Amino acid sequence: MAAQIIDGKEIARKVRERLIPRVANLQQQGVAPCLAVILVGTDPASVSYVTAKERALAEVGMTSRDIRLPADTTEEALLEHIRDLNGDPAVHGILVQLPLPSHIDEERILMAIDPAKDVDGFHPLSVGNMVLGRKTFLPCTPHGVLVLLRELGIPTKGAHAVVVGRSNIVGRPLANLLSGKDINATVTVCHTGTRDLASFTRQADILIAAVGRPHLITADMVKPGAVVIDVGVNRVEDPQSKKGYRLVGDVDFDAVLQVASYITPVPGGVGPMTIAMLLQNVLEAAESRLGPVCR
Ligand code: NAP
Repeated sequence: MAAQIIDGKEIARKVRERLIPRVANLQQQGVAPCLAVILVGTDPASVSYVTAKERALAEVGMTSRDIRLPADTTEEALLEHIRDLNGDPAVHGILVQLPLPSHIDEERILMAIDPAKDVDGFHPLSVGNMVLGRKTFLPCTPHGVLVLLRELGIPTKGAHAVVVGRSNIVGRPLANLLSGKDINATVTVCHTGTRDLASFTRQADILIAAVGRPHLITADMVKPGAVVIDVGVNRVEDPQSKKGYRLVGDVDFDAVLQVASYITPVPGGVGPMTIAMLLQNVLEAAESRLGPVCR
């Protein structure tokens, strides 16, 4: 029997809907939750991510401060923007869209964001708190994956979760969160140093691909009945499409659909959850500070 296709858009819609009364409650107290979004350069994928985030904020009644900077912006100039936003009580969250141009030290920029406004959860203090299991802003994509599993009622306690990819923004935090006492999965992390990747993926009750390689995960790498979460977003050439490309995940969707019990599509799986969790973080940043109304 074919797997159930996980409707990330619908689950994300539910998450966003739950935020609306909380936003209204803040507005009644004169607070408009506000995210400052900084985009350096005009990379088309980054522009579309930023646009989608800002649209989603507006849809739940939150505001954004859109800061678009030229690709040749200096590191110092960017740091100056961040310092201003850190000190601005009308701004509750700061998001610097990654990747940054290569002349800018990404780590230095992320370190400069006030942890109280670190709604992406990338500051080392947020990461440290997450690892210690303390309350903090969780990184949006890993958090979105956990919420997907929870909303679908997929059992995680004692499950073997195999995470392919160990980036700081997806694989590593996801592996950490899955191994937490509340989720209680047994976690294996795979990467380019892993020998015989398939021998690990085939053991997964929950298989998460966060790699960035189209169709890396094939049907023979998946245990029958496994839950397959595809975080990958890859552009592949498609002359049939108006844009000349289409988006695919890291999983060979059509083939794995026949083996798995649940599977996320790309697009429409994890992506919408990432945005929903960002909105939740912005709201929580505003709730915790009750700053004045955004200009
Ligand atoms: P990344 O920083 O490039 O990390 C990729 C990871 O995959 C690395 O740890 C790498 O291993 C591992 N890897 C690469 N090739 C491999 C292979 N053949 N076998 C095993 N492991 C391999 O990427 P990322 O930022 O984590 O993003 C991963 C994917 O998720 C991308 O397609 C990205 O666009 C997508 N993404 C989606 C969302 C969303 O909201 N849907 C959010 C973020 C990212 P090494 O560490 O050994 O190099």
